[in-house]
Amino acid sequence: MRGAVLHGPRDVRIDDRPDPRIIEPTDAVIRLSATCICGSDLWPYRGFNAVGEPSPMGHEYCGIVEDVGRTVTSIKPGQFVIGSFAASDNTCPHCRAGYHTSCEHRQWVVGAQAPFLRVPMADGTLVATQELPSSNQVPNFLAVSDVLGTGWFAADAANVKPGSTVVVVGDGAVGLLGVLSAKQMGAERIIAMSRHYARQTLAREFGATDIVTERGDDGVERVKELTKGIGADSVLECVGTQESMTQAIHATRPGGSTSYVGVPHGVELDGTKLFYTHVHLHGGPAPVRRYLPELIRLVQDGAINPGKVFDLELPLDHAAEGYRAMDERRAIKTLLRP
Ligand SMILES: [Zn+2]
Repeated sequence: MRGAVLHGPRDVRIDDRPDPRIIEPTDAVIRLSATCICGSDLWPYRGFNAVGEPSPMGHEYCGIVEDVGRTVTSIKPGQFVIGSFAASDNTCPHCRAGYHTSCEHRQWVVGAQAPFLRVPMADGTLVATQELPSSNQVPNFLAVSDVLGTGWFAADAANVKPGSTVVVVGDGAVGLLGVLSAKQMGAERIIAMSRHYARQTLAREFGATDIVTERGDDGVERVKELTKGIGADSVLECVGTQESMTQAIHATRPGGSTSYVGVPHGVELDGTKLFYTHVHLHGGPAPVRRYLPELIRLVQDGAINPGKVFDLELPLDHAAEGYRAMDERRAIKTLLRP
């Protein structure tokens, strides 16, 4: 099969790769209906993470089950399924506590920018829809696989409740879906931090009530002005830089919560400063599997349309252009059709 492979900074190619097959009896192989490029794929693409050898790319996926191993019981060929970027058994103590991305048997999914994908621990990892989705529903289900699940965790980890005042730092796909998630959870006021017109527009469509274009200390000042000097109950940090993390913590009111779901790059916290903020911190790689049944139901019911974050759709063969468009911020998120 043909799949996207990163060879070095800004060098994505479509290479021949071995066809995935069942290796463990707990595996499934799925035929992808759609896949996409993640904001986190841009870190190695930009050369921030060293690429040792050519790396198959992609960890967001949904599609039709082709084959299952002999011990798989909950998933069968022909079903449409969605999984997370972390395969998990869904039975260990960490999974039972809802932290599937810390599963005792966790395996990171790689190589999903391809027509076929092997998924380990299929019973624990994959959730099937009730029926096969129409092709215009596929982007909504694909978004559930990572970006919506991550935005949802960001809102949940920041303790968003009905009536909350929420700030979202980061206007990438995860931040925008953090806005949607906060809205679904009943937030009254949602302040999106963005200086990009198309992203501001989508943030408003997803439920943002205010837009702040300033960054850093100026951004914090602006949030304070909008909240009578108090700060926000919940702040979702969806970038992963020192500036965005500092800004998120400082925009949170004493006793409030900051969540962080952007993969950190060079973020360091000063213990003494943190001590005096009185802020709850909670984040990490989102345990998307915990939320899959609920998010699939919301999509099936037509309550949410998270697939709107895909503003560029390309055939898989044009993956390199999809990366370029996101790197240059011409696209929020690229969907690839195998
Ligand atoms: Zn587990």
